[in-house]
Formats: sequence, structure tokens, C-alpha cells
Amino acid sequence: MKLSAISAALLLLSPFAQATTLDLNLKKTMPEIEKLYLDLHQSPELSYHEKQTGQKLAKQLKQLGFTVTDNVGGYGVVGIYENGDGPTVMIRTDTDGLPIVEQTGKPYASKVTVTNNAGATVGVMHGCGHDIHMSSFIGTAQQLMTHKDQWQGTLMMVAQPAEEVGGGAKAMLKEGLFTKYPTPDHVIGLHVSASVPAGKVSMKTEYTMASVDSVDITVKGKGGHGAYPHTTIDPVVIASRIVLALQTITSRELSPLEPSVVTVGSIHGGSKHNVISDEVKLQLTLRSYNPEVRLQQIAAIKRISKGIALSAGLDESLAPEVYVHEDESIPSTYNNPAQTNVVRSAIANAIGEDNVLETEAVMAGEDFGLYGRTEQHVPITLFWLGGVEPSQYDAAMQSGATLPSLHSSKFAPDYKKALPTGITAMSNAAVALFNKK
Ligand SMILES: [Zn+2]
Ligand SMILES: [Zn+2]
Repeated sequence: MKLSAISAALLLLSPFAQATTLDLNLKKTMPEIEKLYLDLHQSPELSYHEKQTGQKLAKQLKQLGFTVTDNVGGYGVVGIYENGDGPTVMIRTDTDGLPIVEQTGKPYASKVTVTNNAGATVGVMHGCGHDIHMSSFIGTAQQLMTHKDQWQGTLMMVAQPAEEVGGGAKAMLKEGLFTKYPTPDHVIGLHVSASVPAGKVSMKTEYTMASVDSVDITVKGKGGHGAYPHTTIDPVVIASRIVLALQTITSRELSPLEPSVVTVGSIHGGSKHNVISDEVKLQLTLRSYNPEVRLQQIAAIKRISKGIALSAGLDESLAPEVYVHEDESIPSTYNNPAQTNVVRSAIANAIGEDNVLETEAVMAGEDFGLYGRTEQHVPITLFWLGGVEPSQYDAAMQSGATLPSLHSSKFAPDYKKALPTGITAMSNAAVALFNKK
């Protein structure tokens, strides 16, 4: 069979392969988008403080013709554009920066500092690349408005604050994101990747990111003199036993086929060499994909902590306190397979099959997953947008050097290459979802 015959056969087989790829004329629009990126990069705001950022995005969406509501669930922004009968497609960006002093050495590096809640001065940086997300988002809105003759339905542009603290999606949903506004039929978003070269994207169906929970354990004891341990019940020893026993949750209680992380990231107790303290505080992060695994982890933490404390001779009134930060809990991100395949095909058509990579799931988390966990059961897709400058990527692959990760003070995405890819990918994915039926 000749190549043309093969592609003709493929076209017949795949309902999505025939989708038209948008003619984006990015040469004309990119200078403006790059300017927006540099502005956002140099004016990052911390979670729950994204006021100016929200206003900038609201202004851009208004200028493009969207009906805009700002201050939704904090500094969230919703832009709606009704373009005839058809599905509602929601495109999400997040907007917050991180308390990091930027050390990329770039001429456009952020120099912003703020006073945090504890009164300390901290640097602020878009260390998770949410500035790339926002610039792609506005670029995509612009393209979809320019090409509105090629899709029908309702376009819902959502700029979500407070992703880094797991609060923004929750707050926007609580304020009626899926009820006061059209309920989306499809939700799509992207996250810049610190391990994929710019110009490419990567994605996977089903679970792609983990649920995240923060848990505090306060271990109690009966303090006293370090030279008379027999007259005390030492919480440092109890806490140490608990830390080791918690390792058996993943290794011995859960199915080896279920991803699970139980990390004790912080342990603090005592004040002096010769004093046995009254309490020790532990801080844990929990990760999983399956919501039942999460519940098992939490139940096991409570049971193990209590059992060890009581076995040391404490009575019930001094059992450890286990506190799960339910308000900060975020679910895993499950990429709906059917929808993700549509998104994947559309992006592959637009940027080339070679530029769409298969990725592995990670145990990092994103509150994007929440959009797929409401009672409306909306299918969601989150894909990764390559951010690493390609020659830097190749050099690292050859030398085995590690690349700066997300949240690193040295993370500097290749915005000139990543942004056009993000805009092309997202615009074509949206059009494919509008035209799916
Ligand atoms: Zn982040
Ligand atoms: Zn992020």
C-alpha cells in the first residue's frame, strides 16, 4: 500500500483524524503573548494574593469579547463566550506563584519580594510555570475567537487561583463554577513540564497525578529529666517507633499494585539535651491514586500511632492526635480516556505525532483533579507542555545531569518555544472537543 493509501485508510478509520488543524498565524500574535509572559513572570503573586494577575487576565478576556466575572472563589476569573449550539468546553489555567527567590540569572527574572503571614520577607517566583499556563491560556482564547467560525458551543475560560495550596479549584466550585455558569461537558488544562523538551507535549490516560493529603500527628508523653528516663514516657522514642511503623502501610498493608506514598517530612520535639519533652510533632504527606487507598492510609496512621503510644504505657487520654487537613486535601487527577484520546489526536495532527509523547503517572498532585470529582462527573484531561530548552535537554540526557525541576529557583522554561506549542495544542484540542459529535 502506498503512503497516501495508508493515510486515506486511517482517515476512514479514525473519526478524529479528519479534524481540521487551525491556521494560527502565530508569527503575528506571538510578540504580544511573549510580552504578556514576561510581564506575568516579573509580577508573580503568592496563593490567595493573585489580585493583579486576575485583573490582567480579566482585562484580556474582556478585550477579546468574553463575558467576564472576576473574584470568583478568591481572585478567580471566569470568561464565557457563547458561540451557538454545542458543548461547553472549559479551559483552565492556574495563576499563583511560589515563595522562592528566583536564581535563573535571566534578565527578566522576578525581583518581587513580599512579607508573608509570619512577617518574614520572601521572594516570589513563578517557579511552577503558571505564567506559561496563563500566557498559553490568553493565546488560546485569542485563537479561538479569531477562528470562531470553526467551532460551535460555549467556551469557558477559567483562571484559577491558589493551586499551590490546593484551595483554588475547591473555592471556585464552591462559588458555583459548575452551577452558576454553564456546566462544562469537557475540561482541559495543561501544565508545563521540567522534563520534556519545549516543542513537545506528553500525556497519559487514566490516573496521571496523585491525591495529596497533609497530616499532622502530635505524639504525647510524660516529660522529665533526661537522666531519669524510667520516670518518664518518652515521646521521642514513641515518635521514632511510629515513623518506622508507618513505613509498613505502603510495604505491608496495601496491595503492591496500588501506588502509595507515606512520607514523614518533618519531626520536631524537645528543647534540650537532658530534657525529655512532653510531645513531638510529625508532619506527613500522603499520596495515592485510588480514593480507597487514601482512606486506608489515614485509618492505618491512626491505628498504628495509637497502638504504639498505648504499648508504651500511655493511657487513652494521652493517645496521639492525628489531624488530617481536609481543607487542603486534593484528589488524584484521572484523565478520562475517551476525551484524552480526542485531545491527543487533535494535538498530534497539529504539532506532529513525533511531538506527542506518552508519559508516566507521577505522585505529585494538582487540584485540577477536583474538576472531575464533582457530582456532574465532567471528563477532564490534563497534559504536560514541554518546557526545557531542547539543546539543554539533549545535553542533560547525554551527561546524565539533572534538569532544574518545577519549584526550583533555577527553573527557566524555554518560553519562546513552549508558548506557541501550548497555544497550538490547546486551541486544536478545544476545537476537536467542540466538533466531536
Ligand atoms: Zn507547583
Ligand atoms: Zn503547578
